[in-house]
Amino acid sequence: MQNSSQNIRKKTRQIVVGDVLVGGGAPITVQSMTTTKTADVEGTLQQIYALAAAGADIVRCTCNDTAAAEGLAKIVPRSPIPVVADVHNQYKMALAAIASGVDCLRLNPGNIKNPEHIKAVAESAGENAIPIRIGVNGGSLHPDLYKKYGGKVTPEAMVESAMTELSYFEEVGFENVKISVKASDISLMVDAYRQLSEATDHPLHLGVTEAGPPPSGLIKSTAGIATLLLEGIGDTIRFSLTADPVQEAKAGRQLLEALGLRERKNVDLIACPSCGRAEINVYEVAEKAQTAFEEKEIPLQIAIMGCVVNGPGEARDADLGIAAGNKRGHLFVKGRNVAVVKEDEMVETLVEWAEFITEHGVEAALERVDLEKAQKEAERDRKDLLAEQGDDVNEDQKRVDLIRKI
Ligand code: SF4
Repeated sequence: MQNSSQNIRKKTRQIVVGDVLVGGGAPITVQSMTTTKTADVEGTLQQIYALAAAGADIVRCTCNDTAAAEGLAKIVPRSPIPVVADVHNQYKMALAAIASGVDCLRLNPGNIKNPEHIKAVAESAGENAIPIRIGVNGGSLHPDLYKKYGGKVTPEAMVESAMTELSYFEEVGFENVKISVKASDISLMVDAYRQLSEATDHPLHLGVTEAGPPPSGLIKSTAGIATLLLEGIGDTIRFSLTADPVQEAKAGRQLLEALGLRERKNVDLIACPSCGRAEINVYEVAEKAQTAFEEKEIPLQIAIMGCVVNGPGEARDADLGIAAGNKRGHLFVKGRNVAVVKEDEMVETLVEWAEFITEHGVEAALERVDLEKAQKEAERDRKDLLAEQGDDVNEDQKRVDLIRKI
């Protein structure tokens, strides 16, 4: 799928994490992080499989002690997606992670501060052809930079932290790098990435750190990440939620699909917000449909509309949809009525048609029915409904008349 947000993407150089390309025009990837102890090999693998199924392309695991590094040695060969080792304080853990066979490292410049240690890690990563993410975090900025910028975390300070780390790498000839400058403050994060994107052509990993639990964590992450993606900035993303990481992977995937930056894999369910015209409980039907389609790989846009008065028109562009008529559901494919079904059969009919369209295409679906007959039946039902409700079910005209009499 091509759209404007793809066309304006900033050109970055490309790196390879395991077998996944990052940057240089590659599809934007989704990342998440396991919450298990990495030493718990089976538990961690179980979570990695769940993350991969939810849409994660790359997974990160902490490598905080020797037991974790030993766990990684067993996890990496069995993981369905590339594994990044997250190293915080000890450079020796970075060396242990490289020895474990991981596909990438993440280093926080605010934590491993000795340039000689940083260079030793970069040299070892270079020998093993493993990329490194320089992961600057607003909350753990190098103390010297914090002081230099007046005791404040600023976009400039975060970018300087990343570029200083990069210069250590370059001193030992290591350039296999992606960079992040995350902060929990969205404006700070957005400004830092904008400046970083001007300063370097290394691929960028986007994220709003410590975004918190959903729904506010989802909103904050989306605000920061989507703003940058729409400016063409960013090559890989992570939602940092205080929730099951599967939610992070799903959210990342959904955001990229919604922005047209990744091929649609699952249903894009659209539904009207409901109003006085609604002939069904739109929330309930939408929720039922969401559950019914959740595990299915159906890359269609499906609409659920509360009435046939405005519904089919408003959802004209959906691949498939249903609008509630006179206690019945009007099924439409690409805006054309194809059937009128009983209210309690709406969701299962939608699923059946969606599966048919996915397998055989829209044209074949339209050929299944007598379109003229379906159109007439829908029209009759619509007229009955209008006759019953009148044109002013939300009573706005009644109120206007009242106002005019004053
Ligand atoms: Fe109201 Fe019908 Fe629009 Fe839904 S589709 S918001 S029920 S007018």
